[in-house]
Amino acid sequence: MPLTTTYWLEHAWLGSYAEPGVALDVTDGRIAAVRTGVDAPPPGATVLRGFTVPGLANAHSHAFHRALRGTVQVGSGTFWTWREVMYTVAQRLTPDSYFALARAVYAEMALAGITAVGEFHYLHHAPGGTPYDDPNAMGEALIAAAREAGVRITLLDTAYLSAGFGAAPDHHQLRFSDGTAEKWAERVSDLKERDGVRVGAAIHSVRAVPADQLSTVARWAEERRAPLHVHLSEQTAENEACHAAHGVTPTRLLADHGVLGPRTTGVHNTHMTEADIALVGSTSTGTCMCPTTERDLADGIGPAVALQKAGSPLSLGSDSHAVIDLLEEARAMELNERLRTHIRGHWTAAALLRAASADGHAALGWNDAGTLEPGALADFTTIALDTVRTAGPVPRLAPETAVFAASAADVRHVVVGGRTVVRDGAHVSVPDTAGALAAAIAALRD
Ligand SMILES: [Zn+2]
Repeated sequence: MPLTTTYWLEHAWLGSYAEPGVALDVTDGRIAAVRTGVDAPPPGATVLRGFTVPGLANAHSHAFHRALRGTVQVGSGTFWTWREVMYTVAQRLTPDSYFALARAVYAEMALAGITAVGEFHYLHHAPGGTPYDDPNAMGEALIAAAREAGVRITLLDTAYLSAGFGAAPDHHQLRFSDGTAEKWAERVSDLKERDGVRVGAAIHSVRAVPADQLSTVARWAEERRAPLHVHLSEQTAENEACHAAHGVTPTRLLADHGVLGPRTTGVHNTHMTEADIALVGSTSTGTCMCPTTERDLADGIGPAVALQKAGSPLSLGSDSHAVIDLLEEARAMELNERLRTHIRGHWTAAALLRAASADGHAALGWNDAGTLEPGALADFTTIALDTVRTAGPVPRLAPETAVFAASAADVRHVVVGGRTVVRDGAHVSVPDTAGALAAAIAALRD
């Protein structure tokens, strides 16, 4: 008989409403049963006080950008000046130092209630572009880091081959490039999926992969039924350069080369024409919004409402990790729209939670996570309802309280695959997460 663990949830999010008194039976890392109307904890049950939601999915991450926090807030500039600072940090990373940094960053994510991360990974090779003895040493470092931090990872190994349309990689970008999409595919095919690990593909952007090689990456993902992500129209300069080179928008270029589709997610989708939005929607291509990064980098506000109406499922990512807080990402998407339109209520708290959980997991290829129902992976996050930020509202309003007032600091417990990763606000396997972050980032300084 497999062992069954029972959790008693004071309040639980069951997809469209908050239910008091729910017992979850977990067997072999999956939810075996969901029992409602359980007023008191059954004997032997683990008691989770607060509001338990499915684990949150961080659908877009560059782990090493966490080392830039604070330092990039000094002075002025644009996305492009920020990128120069980011490249200097990238130059210093080795497989060992990247492991140490990513382990701490993924532990920070777990503390924020994140149970799965989509790592958009392009820092492949040693400085100058020489492959490591294991050409996937950097990707393996990220996988090992996620496993130690107790978080599921979809390694979105990223093809990054050019500096711009028709331009060879610059000296920073040599570390990113495999030379051709064929060589990218060869290397990535050696990465193995394992428990808690999925391997997906990414196209850095239409700037970074020549048009005649886009379909090679798309085909690799298609053959494996793997997720495929792509930075899309984050900057107007990208749109202009794409127009100059190909006479079409980045979205149209991707569509013409077979990149769009239900397993594809466009990240940002900020500066889109109406035709672009229709194309993304009609192909069921997903949209990953990264509102805290988009505002931090002065990118603009993407047309998330129009994209979703057109048929594009929405997910959320902390991208540059200016902050790591999926609840903040969720409310920022709604609050951005309020500022733009002077109207409130574009999404309900339920819809925002769905983007942060079920739809985010689906974008990362975890179709069996992100819901509290029998058969789903036992990944869940408990948000305290008795802190200075969350105390007050009646429990029925737990979803609204969680999405519009709670922060990562209110996450109390996190379970991934039936294993406790965060207990009483502390990470179980990386107990001094702040110290681990400080040490890993200090090691990258001059
Ligand atoms: Zn990104």
